[in-house]
Amino acid sequence: MEIIFLGTGGGRWTTLMQRLRTGGIRLHGESRIHLDPGPGAIVNIAHAGISALRTDAVVVSHSHPDHYNDAEILVEAMTRGMRTTRGTFTGSKSAVEGVEDIGPVLSRYHASRVKELQVLEPGKRVSINGLAVEAAQTRHSDPTNVGLNFLYEEGVVGYISDTEYFPGIEEAYAEARVLIINVIRPSNRRIPWHLCTEDVIKILHEVKPELAVMNHFGMAMIGIADREARRVERETGVATVAAKDFMRIAVGDEIEVR
Ligand SMILES: [Zn+2]
Repeated sequence: MEIIFLGTGGGRWTTLMQRLRTGGIRLHGESRIHLDPGPGAIVNIAHAGISALRTDAVVVSHSHPDHYNDAEILVEAMTRGMRTTRGTFTGSKSAVEGVEDIGPVLSRYHASRVKELQVLEPGKRVSINGLAVEAAQTRHSDPTNVGLNFLYEEGVVGYISDTEYFPGIEEAYAEARVLIINVIRPSNRRIPWHLCTEDVIKILHEVKPELAVMNHFGMAMIGIADREARRVERETGVATVAAKDFMRIAVGDEIEVR
């Protein structure tokens, strides 16, 4: 399978200024999944030379615009311009049903053309076109946000999503071969609801993926993400890279970053 980063920016300011792209992540296995399509997803799919029409599922971890903004336009692509009913939309309760004053992220019109809508709940497993996906707990300002594990034959791809650190966060990702971690701030410059580099180090002392990928950078990370990744690798012994816009990771017998 292959992981393609259509954006590595996160948080309000990086997104508004487009200092990094915010198109989310493509997971290409037997199905083509678009994970967290933030603003610009549709533009960056084209820029990466991928056909948006070849989208089988859209997954939204939570109802913040840097994670869902282009979800409707991707549903239009997935349903071949709303002419057929097909594909899967899987997301947090806030994204699929709406919770209090946030979400749902699809209009009734868009939701009506999706073949399968499913809600992710921490600790529960769903199937996305035959691929098992497990949701994990987070601590984020969207209380229904989920972390994810995609159980590919080639190994588990974990995605920690937006969360602050809490004891035991690591447990859900124990099996991950590749672990994508949203880390908005460097060193110990912690802000509520998000991880900083120090938290990543704590997590990687507990879980040992073959590759850790730092992603979803706020303004304070821009220009220093590579240095932060090197520090994480030095302190934890886990191979760690800072994601780049349009970076691709092939996961087979070997894990190859391009
Ligand atoms: Zn968020």
